[in-house]
Amino acid sequence: MRLLLGAVADDFTGATDLASMLSRAGMRTTLVLGAPDLSADVPEAEAVVVALKSRTAPVDQAVSESVESWRWLSRAGAQQCYFKYCSTFDSTPQGNIGPVAEALRKFTKAEVTIYCPAFPENGRTVYQGKLFVFDQLLSESGMASHPLTPMTDADLRRVLAAQLPEGSLVGFVPWNVVSRGADAIRSELTQASIAGFRHVIVDAVRDEDLIALGRACAGAKLVTGGSGLGLGLPENFASAGELEGGEATTLPHIDGPTLILSGSCSTATNAQVARWEREGGPILRLEPLLLAETGPGAALEWALEQLNGDAAVLISSSQTPDQVQTAQERLGPDRATELVEGALAEIAKAARARGVRRFVVAGGETSGAVAQALGVSRMTVGPSIAPGVPWCASLDEEPVALALKSGNFGGEGFFADALAAGASAT
Ligand code: ADP
Repeated sequence: MRLLLGAVADDFTGATDLASMLSRAGMRTTLVLGAPDLSADVPEAEAVVVALKSRTAPVDQAVSESVESWRWLSRAGAQQCYFKYCSTFDSTPQGNIGPVAEALRKFTKAEVTIYCPAFPENGRTVYQGKLFVFDQLLSESGMASHPLTPMTDADLRRVLAAQLPEGSLVGFVPWNVVSRGADAIRSELTQASIAGFRHVIVDAVRDEDLIALGRACAGAKLVTGGSGLGLGLPENFASAGELEGGEATTLPHIDGPTLILSGSCSTATNAQVARWEREGGPILRLEPLLLAETGPGAALEWALEQLNGDAAVLISSSQTPDQVQTAQERLGPDRATELVEGALAEIAKAARARGVRRFVVAGGETSGAVAQALGVSRMTVGPSIAPGVPWCASLDEEPVALALKSGNFGGEGFFADALAAGASAT
């Protein structure tokens, strides 16, 4: 099997989302969690997605981990580099989308790279260079009050330009070109490149647009986008006869209780947690202010008492933007994050040591912290629970089942959906 596509994702849930997209489109896909050991072999697969926790890391670290990950994949033969970020373009004025994309562009010697976070199935569309979450501009959606990456501007050209070296030109391919198909997009990108644009935002409002964009990117050394861009790329390899095809991957059977951990404070996750509670699901809420005083011991004890048979319990730090703001003001944003991620990671680790092997995690950063604490380094993807959220299994002798959910993904009944889908998937 030949490695064709090498992807570097800036968080863990984004990586599972993309891996699921590629796998559904017929590519044999493996996930590598965390900055890879550069002396280890790259897994045998047609697409490998490296999941970094680089979205809010210091810029230099995000750049070096991303470039090193790609170097590792390209040495193993990967032909196309895919830098995957969130469909809500989560980033800060310092980065890390712009600096990482620019470093990868230089490394891959790509003349120009596209940016398209659109994921229409989840309501994320790009029109006239502005990012929408369903019917709201990004800046008017819940993302405006995200604890780590508040997105207060929906104009992607402006957001990206602020993250790139001064004087960088950010181009734009509007929907009236995208809707005319792959050839029209390709010729617009060529024109943009001739005119000196190295970074180009591309509109997309429908899956067809992403498929056309994917086709237009056949042979491109570098592409950047949300997972939606992954809809169209596999077909380029399939039509060149490079995919092996065959049976879809199945996950190993993993039974026992399920620990659900939520560290996301997004609008969707808050609604999911509330629904779980309303329907009588066992839940323990973590308060950062209390954690600062007492640590996670009591929560851990509670979870271990409950996790018997095929029980499912939820431990959640999810709070409303006002509550998050209070915790951040009293503790400082870094300390609040550290306390919550640290507690959820510690609880996951202790549960695993007691034999729990099924985990559902809500929140991108949170998923990174939990998967790292569980020591999971490679995973295979299985069936989806909701768009962008597959069940996965670690590639270990004693595998664990993991569903890693980006904060804003999934319907209100997501946790129950995950349990139901997990019963048949793993
Ligand atoms: P999402 O996918 O919704 O962006 P993340 O897990 O990526 O979720 O980010 C949420 C961040 O907010 C995490 O770093 C988490 O530790 C932090 N956090 C969670 N709960 C609280 C809280 N109650 N107060 C302050 N910060 C919190």
